[in-house]
Amino acid sequence: MSDLLPLDLTLLNGFEYACRPDCGLCCYAEPRAEPAERARLLQIAPRVEFARRGGSTFLRARPDGGACQFLAANRCGAWSARPGPCRQFPVTVHVGDRLQASLVLSCPGIDLACLAVVSPWEERAAPRGFAAEVRTAMGRITPAVARTVDEARRRRRRLRSALTETGQWADEEEVRAELRASLPFPTAADFPVPEPPAVGEGIAQLPLFFDGRPGPVALAEGRDGWAFLEVRPGGGAEPLAEVPPADQLPELTVEGRRLLQGYLRYFLERDALFGTVVAELEPGEERTVTDEMRSELRAIGALVLARAETLRRALRGASGPLTGADVVGGIRACDQDLLDRPTWGDRL
Ligand code: SF4
Ligand code: SF4
Repeated sequence: MSDLLPLDLTLLNGFEYACRPDCGLCCYAEPRAEPAERARLLQIAPRVEFARRGGSTFLRARPDGGACQFLAANRCGAWSARPGPCRQFPVTVHVGDRLQASLVLSCPGIDLACLAVVSPWEERAAPRGFAAEVRTAMGRITPAVARTVDEARRRRRRLRSALTETGQWADEEEVRAELRASLPFPTAADFPVPEPPAVGEGIAQLPLFFDGRPGPVALAEGRDGWAFLEVRPGGGAEPLAEVPPADQLPELTVEGRRLLQGYLRYFLERDALFGTVVAELEPGEERTVTDEMRSELRAIGALVLARAETLRRALRGASGPLTGADVVGGIRACDQDLLDRPTWGDRL
């Protein structure tokens, strides 16, 4: 455990993980690289390129949404020198008024079967396969992270005071208790969901997921619906298929429903969700924090179902109610995107 701040690991319980060496999905990214990490990378690749943004330095991706410079045949060419974010993935840490670890469920190395289990996360078995990733995350808790926590706490206090004055505020645990007891679930009114960005906005903006092909697939807004693109590590993408968007609530098998409920229960426990919802809520609106959390969870569920349905029709040519495997596909195609939204804190 970090000497500076404790890291809450509850949301890792019950999960098992083993990286899939043929995947490379998490390498379509620009990981942050600290000075000592940059020095190690320069030792093995003197011409490696970095990018500066917002006071931090990142390993620059190849142009047009391509993968990291070190990705070759879906393997890392700098394994021993890869920076902290690569060593920590798929563990993600929300830096809010506390440090809370959760998992990027887009990673196909994580078995999602435990989402269907209903017992509280605290009571589940210890996670398996994440020891090195958790150690890395703990090692990245520096004094700068502690300062970000202080800033997030100040922001939370300001928002709490403004929203209390207008009668919109409720504390995290109060909201969670209410929504655990009556879990929001998408309905017909939540469809259709917004389409993903268009290809013209850049492949880096598009949802990426792993579908068992070499490298990831991107989802984009096409001319007649949702387009699937095979992403090339060097940049650019080839069209795979295009289908009209799912414009009504798809049917679910019992297993599919259980998995989606489990995913929504998981999301409800993430500090990132509360941080995103509250940061977006304007004082004086008629909606309360609880209303907003409820509609956000329904929207997340609808997005998973829409992507699961579209993915199944476009890439698997299947029909009928969405199965557990279909819902897993939808979750993987959404989770990274949903975690990327701004909150009142930051991410490690
Ligand atoms: S996304 Fe997960 S399975 Fe794929 S390479 Fe990254 S860690 Fe491994
Ligand atoms: S350094 Fe290696 S692990 Fe990290 S993004 Fe690049 S290829 Fe992937």
